[in-house]
Amino acid sequence: MSASTATSLFFTLSTPPKPSIKTHPSLPPILLRRSISSPQPLLQSRPSIPPPAASAAASTVDSGQEASATSKTPPLLPFRVGHGFDLHRLEPGLPLIIGGVDIPHDRGCEAHSDGDVLLHCVVDAILGALGLPDIGQIFPDTDPRWRGARSSVFMREAVRLMHEAGYELGNLDATLILQKPKLSPHKEAIRANLCEMLGADPSVVNLKAKTHEKVDSLGENRSVAAHTVVLLMRK
Ligand SMILES: [Zn+2]
Repeated sequence: MSASTATSLFFTLSTPPKPSIKTHPSLPPILLRRSISSPQPLLQSRPSIPPPAASAAASTVDSGQEASATSKTPPLLPFRVGHGFDLHRLEPGLPLIIGGVDIPHDRGCEAHSDGDVLLHCVVDAILGALGLPDIGQIFPDTDPRWRGARSSVFMREAVRLMHEAGYELGNLDATLILQKPKLSPHKEAIRANLCEMLGADPSVVNLKAKTHEKVDSLGENRSVAAHTVVLLMRK
């Protein structure tokens, strides 16, 4: 799915269209603050809904007080689960980049950025676990800054937000779906890239690849898709 499709679906289901993340009413302030680890976050600050980290701090402060069933403060969760899904069309003459690795093929992903279907869905899984807007809202494909951008930029921002919220990766399990080419020669390179971007040990980063039995666009070498599930743990 393209970023614009995801964004338009979101707005159809919830709020009126907004031009960018800077004006979205539900954007938590977690996206705004500068951090020591990344002095120049990609997203700008805007006071709004408490982020998981802020909520956690509030819960700690309130722990000795009466817990109200009507409290709007989310519970302090020791774990958070997130799921990501992405799909891109394959078109002749474009590079096929998966997990930051250039895969030799006769076609590649049509996308505003580098079309890295795996990194896009990992980013969405992390953002989803944090209860944040999706990748299409944070990095809209209407923003010229992201034209042709390496998706590692999105990954590093998602990881920064995860740490800023007070979480670290528990484990990640990803599944790539494509008919061609075979990914087995590239799996370890892709996994190593994921581990480096996530700052994670290989033992908690799993990657699987499947064909689509030659049916539908995935099986006819016309698209590529990926699913990712992450478990985040409070630090
Ligand atoms: Zn994508």
